[in-house]
Amino acid sequence: MPVVRDHARVFDRFLFVYPVISRRSGGLSLGVNLNPDKRCNFNCAYCEVDRQTPGPAKTVDLIRLRAELSALAQSALRGQLGLTPKFAEVAALTRRIRDIAFSGDGEPTMVPNFADCVRAVIEVKLALALADTKIVLITNATGLDKTDVKRGLALLDAHQGEIWGKLDAGTDAYYRLVNRSHVAFDRILHNLTITAQARPIVIQSLFMKVRGEPMPAPELEVYCGRLRDILAAGGSIREVQAYTIARPTPEPWVERLDRADLDSIAAVIRARTGLPVMTFA
Ligand code: SF4
Repeated sequence: MPVVRDHARVFDRFLFVYPVISRRSGGLSLGVNLNPDKRCNFNCAYCEVDRQTPGPAKTVDLIRLRAELSALAQSALRGQLGLTPKFAEVAALTRRIRDIAFSGDGEPTMVPNFADCVRAVIEVKLALALADTKIVLITNATGLDKTDVKRGLALLDAHQGEIWGKLDAGTDAYYRLVNRSHVAFDRILHNLTITAQARPIVIQSLFMKVRGEPMPAPELEVYCGRLRDILAAGGSIREVQAYTIARPTPEPWVERLDRADLDSIAAVIRARTGLPVMTFA
C-alpha cells in the first residue's frame, strides 16, 4: 500500500527509506520499504508499483536499514531535507518527523524478520529521541496473524505504534475483483478483528470507480457490516481513512472517484457504523 513517493535525487542512494510529505500523516513521513523486491500477496487493480521491472533486493539488511533511517532522520532534523528542490516549498514541514511508516513496494508483513525490522526502527527512534514520532504499519492485513508479526506489533504498541489495515471490499467477490489475492477474504477479516481486539486500529479503504461505477450501494452496505462485525467482536477502530486513486493505474477499468462521490461514501460509512471517517480525494 504505497504512499505518494517523492524521489528526490539526493535520497536515491537509500534502498530501504524515503521521505514524503503525507497528508494522512499531516507532515513529514519517513517511509520504510521492507519490500524493495516488490513482493506482495495482493495484486490490487489500482496498485502503482511497477512489477514488470524486478526490485533490487530480496532481503532486508538490518544494518543498512538502521543506518539509512538514521541518516535520513538526521538530515531532516538538521534542516537539510528542506534545502532540496523537491521539498523547497514545504521546507517548514520537513524538520518535524511526524511518523516513520512501514509502507513500500509490497506487503511489509511478508518479510520473515518483521519483528527485527520493527526493533531496528525503534532503536533509531530512541537514539534520536524522536519522542513525538509515531511508527505506522501500513498493511493489507494478510500477515497480522503470524507469530513473528505479532511480536513486532507488541513492540509497536510500546513505542507509539499504529496499525493502518486495508479493507477495500465488503464481499468476497468485490475483494477478488479489486485486490486479486489468493489469500482468503475471511483471513483478512479475522486478522483485522484480532488486531483490533488487541489495540485500536485504523482502517484504510480505497474507493474507486470500477468500469465507470463507484462501489455499488449493496456492496457498501456489506462493507459497513464488516466494520460493525469488528466492533461487535470487541475490536476498536480509531478511524476509517477513505481515499481514492491518486496515480495512474495498471488497469484501465479502474478510475479515481471525484470528491462528491467519495464524500457520499464517507457519509454512508459514518451513518452505518458511527465511526469517524477521514477522506483523501
Ligand atoms: S497491497 Fe495492493 S496497493 Fe499495496 S503494494 Fe500490494 S498490490 Fe500494491
